[in-house]
Amino acid sequence: MMPLTHRLIAAAALVLVAAHRTSAQLPGCSPMPPGSGRAGPAFTFNKVQADVIHAVGTGTMAVGANATIIINERDLMLVDAGLSPAAMCVLFEELKPITTKPLRSVVVTHFHFDHAHGSQVFGPDVEIIGSSFTRAQLAMGNSVRGRGYEAFIKSLPGQVAAAKAARDTITDAKRKDAANARINLLEQEILADAAVIPTPPTLTLDDHLTLYRGGREIQLRFIGRAHTGGDVVVVLPKERIVVTGDMMTFGVPFMGDGFIDEWPATLERLKALSFDMVLPGHGPAFKERERIDWLQVYFRDLGPKIKALHDAKVTSADAAKQIDMRSHVAHFPNLTAVGVDPNAVARAYELLDAKP
Ligand SMILES: [Zn+2]
Repeated sequence: MMPLTHRLIAAAALVLVAAHRTSAQLPGCSPMPPGSGRAGPAFTFNKVQADVIHAVGTGTMAVGANATIIINERDLMLVDAGLSPAAMCVLFEELKPITTKPLRSVVVTHFHFDHAHGSQVFGPDVEIIGSSFTRAQLAMGNSVRGRGYEAFIKSLPGQVAAAKAARDTITDAKRKDAANARINLLEQEILADAAVIPTPPTLTLDDHLTLYRGGREIQLRFIGRAHTGGDVVVVLPKERIVVTGDMMTFGVPFMGDGFIDEWPATLERLKALSFDMVLPGHGPAFKERERIDWLQVYFRDLGPKIKALHDAKVTSADAAKQIDMRSHVAHFPNLTAVGVDPNAVARAYELLDAKP
């Protein structure tokens, strides 16, 4: 028989193993990665059903896209992996009061940094699933360059410098505190981004893939090009939920890598799926299917407007300043001024120029 001290050590080791299995689920989160600093909780967990959670950033930290946590009988599935290792580790830290089930699979809806750059923390026991397009983009390094990355991440040092200059002109103490909080957030985001090692999916699909977890069916589908060349949507047919990434967001999505001409037809195929609730990559969950119609109408208006200016040899930058989409303001309240995102127009020009 084992001496008492040895038995105590063995028992303590068992407890440690158990604690490791239930709480420290992500091997890349110990120690916490750089850029985890935040002023208060980083996520609001919106329980759209008892075991389906739409996690939305609160604004205390740059976390990137929304994440969806699907709580299965024995494990968790995550849809979208956030902006950074820090964002993912904070997500799972804050999720502990709700569930400590082990994470087994992650779906990356597309290759953009704000959906894919937390993947390195999951470790070898977690399958990372995405389209083969998404895998190729991440493997080629296209999540750390291009229009989106330039606009939102490479611009961060300049944003910090501008925010500091603006802060130094503020005299009101409250406004100065708010400006400092904003500067801290941006500086944490720079630290978090510097720690990113883009990590491609370990399992890919070209058309569809269905997972069965306990009594739940989880469908992954590629239904056509839209926000990127390889967006995957996740359908929970029994729960009548669809997770759309940035193919369908609450407002107008980023179009810098998109296919404006093909996007409305892809959204038509989205509408044909069975769901009552949309969990978008940005903005709140919603039930109104007409939001999808509104976005189709927007693209069908924008595409020809861009093409007319392209054919008239107007530069892409000038076209972006001229295009007037204010007629859509009832559906997209921020469209109050003339002009559209130059990234959208540059992308559309690129596709038009590539046409034979
Ligand atoms: Zn995106």
